[in-house]
Amino acid sequence: MPKIGVLAIQGDFLEHGKMLDAISMDWQEVRLPDQLDGLDGLIIPGGESTTIVQLMDIYGFRDTIKRRTREGMAVWGTCAGMIVIARKLLDKRPEPLGLMDIEVSRNAFGRQVDSFETEIHVASIPGDPVHAIFIRAPIVTNVGPEVEIIAEVEEGKPVAVRQDRLMATSFHPELTNDTRFHELFCKLSGS
Ligand code: GLN
Repeated sequence: MPKIGVLAIQGDFLEHGKMLDAISMDWQEVRLPDQLDGLDGLIIPGGESTTIVQLMDIYGFRDTIKRRTREGMAVWGTCAGMIVIARKLLDKRPEPLGLMDIEVSRNAFGRQVDSFETEIHVASIPGDPVHAIFIRAPIVTNVGPEVEIIAEVEEGKPVAVRQDRLMATSFHPELTNDTRFHELFCKLSGS
């Protein structure tokens, strides 16, 4: 069974933990870079991306996470987590980690009114559409050749993407009762 870490320095990491418990996964909170050793997958939660990146830099995560990703650790960023792992942002801050070949725009749906819920079809998740909760969500504005768009809110607005063992979603599967995204990520981590 793959071992999953949830970055637990800011944001809704507890909700991710509950989802992993619900599917009986082996997981742990990650608060320091050396806790990435031995993990097959890492979830970077929603929250405030500038704070998350600032704290990651203070704790010295940047180089270790890049090395672990090169070594094959899977990474899934939800909402702020998507911003954190992007190659490029259309915004000035934060300086993203550049793990995934995506360009992202923060708060792309507007400011507070921008929180909404909708049903979306996700290519890698057969069956019923996914109930997607967007909270001041980012959007993917450009993808590299190796990135697969697995869901869009409307034509040309990607909100879920995958690149080999990396995945990013603009929305928050951890705030629903639907564990299919967490199952998908655990499968990616174990492959
Ligand atoms: N708007 C936040 C940011 O830019 C992300 C919001 C979220 O994670 N729900 O970091």
